Amino acid sequence: MPELPEVETVCRQLDPELAGLRIDALEVLDARWCRPVSPAKLEAAVQGATIEGLGRRGKYLLLAIDGARTLVMHLRMTGNLVLVEGEDKLDPSEGRRLYEGERSVSERHLRARFRLDDERELWFTDPRRFGEAFLIGDADLGERFAKLGVEPLSDAFTPEALGEMAANRTAPLKSFLLDQSGVAGVGNIYADEALFRARLHPLSPAGSMKSEHQEALRDAVVAALEAGIDGGGASIDDYRDGRGEKGTMQDEFLVHTREGKPCPRCESPIVRIVVSGRSTYYCPSCQVRLRRKPRRGRSSRR
Ligand SMILES: [Zn+2]
Repeated sequence: MPELPEVETVCRQLDPELAGLRIDALEVLDARWCRPVSPAKLEAAVQGATIEGLGRRGKYLLLAIDGARTLVMHLRMTGNLVLVEGEDKLDPSEGRRLYEGERSVSERHLRARFRLDDERELWFTDPRRFGEAFLIGDADLGERFAKLGVEPLSDAFTPEALGEMAANRTAPLKSFLLDQSGVAGVGNIYADEALFRARLHPLSPAGSMKSEHQEALRDAVVAALEAGIDGGGASIDDYRDGRGEKGTMQDEFLVHTREGKPCPRCESPIVRIVVSGRSTYYCPSCQVRLRRKPRRGRSSRR
């Protein structure tokens, strides 16, 4: 599933390409993509609009268009947003094929297509069809994302902010990091990678962190996400970048999906457990399991 680094990669690639282009037409091929709004209504609303840019909030893609509006898109499990050459520029012998691999993702997974005025097209492909989109006025964006947590690559993401979020939380650190109302954009891959970097056991209660752990985890989350962006995202399954190409982060994982392989720090075999229903990978030797803090103000007498 695409996480912050994958979505950020798409944004950084496509924002400069899309800014200033006009949407000649939007074609929604799957009504589920924009429900409960009908395809015809959304198509009419964005037709002729000029794209101002492509941004990101958490794992959401924000396509800003004129009229102070934003088309918000979420890739969910298997969505991809890819800029492709228009029909006129295609080699007829090649046909229209984006990319192939073990799970070929092609035109048959197309959910929505934007025809742009430079003859290129922006495609939202999605084999599992969990991806979604909605149009919103910019004035309402703040409220729409009010429950979404802090952006981990912003200055607001400090060790103190992380400590406040974690205070009194008994949830395991892994679940704490997956909660989008705390730190936005971190998912299963980068939670594992961050906890390894911070030397913290995924089952440690979030509220058990001392200030040095909060600092280590804050730095580790940022480092793990930046490594993901540097690698152009991770293509474990269907993820492709804004040009339809695979990322390389899956070859750089420290612990994620590396069950039984040696820890890059101490060479102990990496272990896989399930936390909150998600596969979780860690090193049992060098990731410390913190004890739950005794409650403050508790009487020592019984
Ligand atoms: Zn280790």
